[in-house]
Amino acid sequence: MRARYSAYVRHQDTFLMASWHPSTRPAELTHEPGLLWRHLDVSHSDHTDDTGSVHFSATWQQGERWGILQEKARFTREAGHWYYLDGDVSHLPLAPERNKDCPCGSGRKYKRCCRP
Ligand SMILES: [Zn+2]
Repeated sequence: MRARYSAYVRHQDTFLMASWHPSTRPAELTHEPGLLWRHLDVSHSDHTDDTGSVHFSATWQQGERWGILQEKARFTREAGHWYYLDGDVSHLPLAPERNKDCPCGSGRKYKRCCRP
């Protein structure tokens, strides 16, 4: 899961496709232009022998726009490899304030961090 997040950050499509279960894998991946993934919070994860679930929040920035993608993702294991299956996704807007903590999680004020 964290490996897939890192792959989204770096646009490593080969890994993203390889770790996506063939039954639900899209034909190709698209990345929103100018969208940066800024932070990942995993709130819950568990698995049995061959199914797993991960609840996470991923914070993104696109210029002055920010948001959080929340997902309850499902994974399945085949031949010892975990694959992303699908997930329930919801979106939340974020409105960072210049004198408050930056949503990227750096601990710095927004105006001294990711503010464009
Ligand atoms: Zn920041």
